[in-house]
Amino acid sequence: DSLVAPGPDPDDKAIEAALRPKNLDDFVGQKRVREQLSLVLEASRLRGRSADHVLLSGPPGLGKTTLSMIIAAEMNAPLRISSGPAIQHAGDLAAILSSLTEGEVLFLDEIHRMSRPAEEMLYMAMEDFRVDIIVGKGAGATAIPLELPPFTLVGATTRAGLLPGPLRDRFGFTGHLEFYSTDELELVLRRSAMLMDMKVNSAGFAEVAGRSRGTPRIANRLLRRVRDWALVHGIEQIDARSAGAALDMYEVDALGLDRLDRAVLTALITKFNGGPVGLSTLAIAVGEEPETVETVAEPYLVREGLLGRTPRGRIATRAAWEHLGLQMPENVAA
Ligand code: ATP
Repeated sequence: DSLVAPGPDPDDKAIEAALRPKNLDDFVGQKRVREQLSLVLEASRLRGRSADHVLLSGPPGLGKTTLSMIIAAEMNAPLRISSGPAIQHAGDLAAILSSLTEGEVLFLDEIHRMSRPAEEMLYMAMEDFRVDIIVGKGAGATAIPLELPPFTLVGATTRAGLLPGPLRDRFGFTGHLEFYSTDELELVLRRSAMLMDMKVNSAGFAEVAGRSRGTPRIANRLLRRVRDWALVHGIEQIDARSAGAALDMYEVDALGLDRLDRAVLTALITKFNGGPVGLSTLAIAVGEEPETVETVAEPYLVREGLLGRTPRGRIATRAAWEHLGLQMPENVAA
């Protein structure tokens, strides 16, 4: 339930939908992916065929679902949405595939979490637009071939490396989404503020963007919290000071660290003199499970160069000491 968690929040669904860009021109950043994708779509439009299958990889909240919707809209095709964890049996996938219409875009989120038999069925569907439906069991089982209309599969994964090679190879185009720069996040925020009828000056946008961890989903979520704060405080035009005060109140600091992130760094520095210290000891010091510290707090701290993982344990870097306003002693190796 952290404000800076990159994953979707069920309460945010409606507003996320309202803020989604509807075409490639409105999609901010990811220049390379946008250009390449635009070419793939244009070429298939010229050929009068459904687009090649597309694989989108990258961390949560960077726009994979949004891009799949844009692909369908640009191809003027209907969109079907499902996900790997929802497809546990080959039959689940067969049901979806057999009901697709010509040219339809099928978005499979978390495609790396599909079951093995479903994955194997998907190979044939992607390559030959055909599946074999197995009827019966044991020696009496027969395969009934079923022709499928041409469709475009858009697979999304947070980790392309987890996909088996044969599946990866069947995508005609792979786009890897990168974290957004602060400038790009400002553009996302400007668009969102306009849609939400908010008045924010440039410094206000920069303040929110700087705390958004390179992730549009987080940027939009923080902007909504700033909007609440401004409403309650009767502030019409949001500037850097009001945006900063609002986000300080929600315990999201200037680098986008939340309470847990700071607790980890503070414990590491004040209790263990900057480390190295083992994960489980560090977790006890902040009153969390080791898994929470490792999967929730550490990835961003490592990415920001605030925490290091060494064979002897976790260490706080010089940047971490500085961020917490502490002087790093000379005898500490960070
Ligand atoms: P997940 O894998 O967790 O579902 P995702 O990568 O599919 O995440 P989206 O749901 O597409 O992310 O995007 C999250 C939110 O961020 C949406 O509200 C979307 O409008 C916004 N967003 C993402 N990318 C962009 C972008 N390039 N420009 C503008 N808004 C964006």
